[in-house]
Amino acid sequence: MPMRTYLVRLNLDIKEKNIRNALRFKAASLSIKALSRPNNKVVVLAHRGRPTKFDKPLSLRPFASLLSKSTGKKVVFIDRVAGAKKKIDGARGGSVFLLENLRFEKGERENSEKFARTLAALGDEYIMNDFATSHRSSPSTTGITKYIPSRNGEIVRNEIEALEKATKKPARPLVLIIGGAKIEDKAGTIKRLLPKTNYVLLGGGVGNTFLAASGVDVKKSLYEKGMVKSAKSLLRSRKIVYPVDFAVKGNAILDIGPETIKRYAKIIKSARTIIWAGPMGKFEDKEFRNGNDEIGKAVLRNKKAKIIIGGVDTLSSLPVRIKSQKQGNILFSTGGSAMLQFLAGKKMPAIEAAKKAKRKMTR
Ligand code: ADP
Ligand code: MG
Repeated sequence: MPMRTYLVRLNLDIKEKNIRNALRFKAASLSIKALSRPNNKVVVLAHRGRPTKFDKPLSLRPFASLLSKSTGKKVVFIDRVAGAKKKIDGARGGSVFLLENLRFEKGERENSEKFARTLAALGDEYIMNDFATSHRSSPSTTGITKYIPSRNGEIVRNEIEALEKATKKPARPLVLIIGGAKIEDKAGTIKRLLPKTNYVLLGGGVGNTFLAASGVDVKKSLYEKGMVKSAKSLLRSRKIVYPVDFAVKGNAILDIGPETIKRYAKIIKSARTIIWAGPMGKFEDKEFRNGNDEIGKAVLRNKKAKIIIGGVDTLSSLPVRIKSQKQGNILFSTGGSAMLQFLAGKKMPAIEAAKKAKRKMTR
């Protein structure tokens, strides 16, 4: 077997303080372990945040030693793409490299074709394994696939498969739980899934938007004015369930109330498919985490349902330790917005690009 160099796109965009406990970190570690062999080299492509230039707090440098520990392989950090090729080409089989935050590179930020070619030249095959970034186009997610054989990796394939299964022929009742802050992201998902859904349980800023649509004066609450109109039309569906009571502070609705929890928990108990994105309240605040805790418990208690939970904040809000992506009847998605876009039926450019790219069977 000739020596091969794999370029693998992974998600290291991690906000958690304890990086090693983050689902994305665990998924990335597994991916590196699965790929690395004595007769190949692995180069990790990743980003963190949305820097517009070098920004030290967003450097991936600290991740090299963390990944070395979690994978049991020495992960060598490369701080610039310029010059990376020489280092990678000169290395022994079994080497693993981590490139610095790609968004520090102008070429990546500005979607340069030349930068895509430069990245492609670093290896023999590209593996798209960053589901959470797959709804975006960039040299390291789409551009690169034009120049070397490419495919989607296991993280991406598993997530898509679980999401497709859960929505194409769902076990019923299918219950969609939608909360959180990124509201406009979620309207499209609700609309698109509504025909297949039995109940949509709403909380957080999304719930507030529907409350506003129902005529409640939500005052200073987090909600999306621009979505009130489409929320009004969605409210005609009896599948849409929104809060009937809530916890308020300073003119803002910050959590769902006990009667809402009771109603939601009952529906969750009956569910055979559950898709959850977005916390039910401002859970970071002890005073307002009760609703989310109770909904979390109700979801985790349901062992009969296929469950998909996505979104960084949603995952961190759960009263459970997340050890791996698949845990019993639950799939934890590494993607928040990406998961919602996929569920809304939108094209995922990076997944499409890797699928379309010429493939060379290597295993
Ligand atoms: P995810 O990261 O899981 O995709 P979002 O980012 O959309 O979720 O939403 C999470 C944020 O929403 C949390 O920071 C939480 O505090 C906030 N949030 C939820 N409900 C409310 C509310 N009623 N008022 C203010 N903020 C809320
Ligand atoms: Mg979030």
